[in-house]
Amino acid sequence: MSVLVVGSVALDSVKTPFGEIEEALGGSATYASVSASFFDAVNLVAVVGDDFAEENVQLLKGFEIDVSGLKRQTGETFRWKGYYTYNLNEAITTETCLNVFADFNPILPDEYKKANHIFLANIDPELQLKVLEQIEKPEIILLDTMNFWIMNKRDSLIKTIERVDILVVNDAEARELTGEANLIKAASKIRSIGPGRVIIKKGEHGALMFSKDGIFSAPAYPIEDIFDPTGAGDTFAGGLIGYLSGVHGKNEEDFKRGVIFGSAMASFVVEKFSLDRLKTLTWEEIRNRYYQFKKLTHFEVE
Ligand code: AMP
Repeated sequence: MSVLVVGSVALDSVKTPFGEIEEALGGSATYASVSASFFDAVNLVAVVGDDFAEENVQLLKGFEIDVSGLKRQTGETFRWKGYYTYNLNEAITTETCLNVFADFNPILPDEYKKANHIFLANIDPELQLKVLEQIEKPEIILLDTMNFWIMNKRDSLIKTIERVDILVVNDAEARELTGEANLIKAASKIRSIGPGRVIIKKGEHGALMFSKDGIFSAPAYPIEDIFDPTGAGDTFAGGLIGYLSGVHGKNEEDFKRGVIFGSAMASFVVEKFSLDRLKTLTWEEIRNRYYQFKKLTHFEVE
């Protein structure tokens, strides 16, 4: 099987209390695809401008990501600028330049339309809907979004949410979307729109997964040196959908393991800027961290 990832491929300029980087490879689909590629084959759909360096394309290919759906269009690549203060849970956006994304029309190559596992990473919800209209018989559709779209494209976003299986958002986005301060109430409001499952990320405090079977609480791996949190959410989602696709996961335990693998992947990406940590990451390191999660949360009742 393979995972279809649709989202942004970007050049990010990021400042954290520990350093800064200009025009580094980033974007929601980039982080998610690279993360998912550790678990299964990945097909990427996105658009870049004619300024996008060939070495970045080669980097994606190095992770064995199929880039035949990565369109090159005349114009500039999507750019995002942001910074973090010591509260590393919150990115403060200073500039979003959609550039070639402003008139992107995602047309899926025929072989991508049969995708079973789809991650609609953070982009304009109207584009996410266009993708959904082309998919033939999806098994699991995972959707991400952000405050920018909740504020600016609420109606299209709700239409998209109605059609997906899992929504993954952070705590602030869940509150903004539903007008509920309490995350349990927020999750059940979101589930009443359509998705059977909602995952609410709480940055360094882990994630909560809500489904008909109840609530699963996953910790975040305690990291001493978080260098740059950019991409943590997308790396989490990529790990989750990649794992589910790789094991043909369908039951509650598969989803729980997927959330832990996603959390493990996110815990690596924040250790360095951009994709730098994922470039050297090995499967053995992922597996070790996965087992660490078990140790971190296991206790004997008596
Ligand atoms: P996160 O995983 O939430 O830290 O996502 C970070 C990535 O989202 C960055 O690499 C950005 O390029 C990308 N991004 C930021 N704003 C947007 C947006 N409005 N649409 C699509 N992607 C975005």
